Amino acid sequence: MASTKVRDLPAGGPVDMRSDTVTRPTPEMRRAMAAAEVGDDVIEGDPTADRLEKMVAEQLGKEAAVFMPSGTMTNQIALRLHCQPGDEFLCEANCHILNMEQGAFASLSGLVGRPLLGNFGVLSLADFQDQIHAVNDHLTSTRLVCLENTHNRAAGTVQPLDEVEAICQWAHANGLMTHLDGARLFNASVASGIDVQQLSQSFDTVSVCFSKGLGAPIGSALAGPRDAMVRARRHRKAFGGGMRQSGIIAAAAIYALEHHVQRLAVDHEHAQQLGQGIRNCEYLSLHPDRIDTNIVIFHVDPAVGPASQFVRELQSRHVLVYAVAPQLIRAVTHLDLNAKQITYTIEMLNEVVDGLAKSRVK
Ligand SMILES: *Cc1c(COP(=O)(O)O)cnc(C)c1O
Repeated sequence: MASTKVRDLPAGGPVDMRSDTVTRPTPEMRRAMAAAEVGDDVIEGDPTADRLEKMVAEQLGKEAAVFMPSGTMTNQIALRLHCQPGDEFLCEANCHILNMEQGAFASLSGLVGRPLLGNFGVLSLADFQDQIHAVNDHLTSTRLVCLENTHNRAAGTVQPLDEVEAICQWAHANGLMTHLDGARLFNASVASGIDVQQLSQSFDTVSVCFSKGLGAPIGSALAGPRDAMVRARRHRKAFGGGMRQSGIIAAAAIYALEHHVQRLAVDHEHAQQLGQGIRNCEYLSLHPDRIDTNIVIFHVDPAVGPASQFVRELQSRHVLVYAVAPQLIRAVTHLDLNAKQITYTIEMLNEVVDGLAKSRVK
C-alpha cells in the first residue's frame, strides 16, 4: 500500500483544485456587496444589476445583457431563444451544454443536441459540412450552432479565433443562429491577448460566468440583441431566475470585472507550473500535452492504479482534485491558490506516484 501517513496542512491551507468555482469572495468584494445600492429587479429594476448588465453588454459588444443566477440558465435560455420544440442545435461532443446540464435542452425546451467530435474541443469549419438537415418531414430542423470558449472538458482550450469566425459566418450564411458558452471567456481573452469583444463579435448571443475564475460567489450573464434580451428576461422569470435585490450579487460581479480579470494570468502561470511538474513526473502525462489557461487534465498510468485511488491519496495530503475518467484527473487553478500551494501540490504528486509505484513493484 502507498503511504497512509496524514500530512500537516500546507501553508495557505488545503489546496482545493476541484474547480475555479470554489473561490470565496474577498473582503474587498464583500465590502462592495455590502455597499450595493439595490431595488426590486423584477418590479422596477435594480440599479446595480442594471449597471452590471450595461457593463457586460458594452464589454462584449452587444446591445444588451441579462444577469442570471447560473451559467446553466444563461445557456438554456439562449437555446430557448434560438430554437423551437423539435429543433436541433449542433455542438462539440464534449461541451457543457450537451453533457453537464442534465439534458435540460430536451426536458425544458424539447430540443435535440447533435454532437460533432472536435480535436480536444476544437471544431473546424470542415466538421460542419453537410451537417444541416434538409427540410424533410423525417428530420429535426437544424437551427443553431453552440461553441464553448474556453472548452472545459478539453482542459480549458482556447478556440482559435479564425476558425470560430469561419464557423459563425458559415452558420449565418446558412440561416443558423450562433451561441457562445463563454463561461471562461475572460480566461480565453487573457490567455490569447484578444479582447472579449472580438471573441464575441461573430455570435448572436454570448454567456459569461462571474462565479468561475473571476471569483464572484454567484452569477452569469447572457448578452445579445436588445429584442432577444427582452425575451430572455421573460424566460428568466419563467425558469425561476427572477431575482429581487440582485444588486448585492451584481456588485460582486462588477467588482470581479474591475479587479479580477487581468489577474487570471496568474492562474494561467500556476497551471503552467503544475503542468511542468506533471511532465516531470514518471507515470503521469498531460492530456492534452498543452495548457492554454487554468485547467490541467492529466493521465495516470494504470501501472500506478486508477485515478480514483490517486485522488484519495492526494486528498489525504490536503490536495483536492476530481477524477474525470478512469485514468484522468482534472485540476483547476484559481484566485484562492498561491505559488506555495502549487509547489506543494507538485511535491505531493511525486510523493503519491512514488508510494503507489513502490507498492506495485513486488
Ligand atoms: C461552469 C460552466 C457553465 C455553467 O455552470 P453553472 O454551474 O450553471 O454556473 C457553463 N458552461 C461551462 C463551459 C462551464 O464550465
